[in-house]
Amino acid sequence: MKNYCNRCHRLYDDIDVCPNCKKPLQKGVKPSTPVAVVSASGFERDRITAALSDENIPFASRAEKKEISADAVTGIDNAKYRIEVPYSYYGKAIDVLVGINAINPAKEDLEAADEATEQNEDEFEDMSPRKRMFVRIISIILLILVVALVIMGVDAVTAIIKDLFV
Ligand SMILES: [Zn+2]
Repeated sequence: MKNYCNRCHRLYDDIDVCPNCKKPLQKGVKPSTPVAVVSASGFERDRITAALSDENIPFASRAEKKEISADAVTGIDNAKYRIEVPYSYYGKAIDVLVGINAINPAKEDLEAADEATEQNEDEFEDMSPRKRMFVRIISIILLILVVALVIMGVDAVTAIIKDLFV
């Protein structure tokens, strides 16, 4: 189950206190709960909100800091905005943002991927030498089959073309 910070609107796994604001985390999250997916400003923010709109993902953007910058004079909105989506859209929003390179996949996800790879390697190590040889032979046979199919396929097509023109 995900834990949620009411102040930062962020989700966390397996911790009880928000690492960002030190507030105790709420257990679980409702589908309608707003969840922060990314912080952005200026053009990047426009790009992100446009991508979310394209995918029909509802979102809210909140100014993270109310600070008056020199740019306020020029009328350029330089403030950083926290973009939030309902929890029910969270996974989809993350996919969209990864797709447009607005965010990198979460570090936790990368670690999980590493673990999965290690497990696969372990399984291979656990195989008896005989089973490993069997797997290798099957792989070679499959490779030969694919190569043969490609060559025969090309020959067949060449034959048909020759028939057409001779
Ligand atoms: Zn927090």
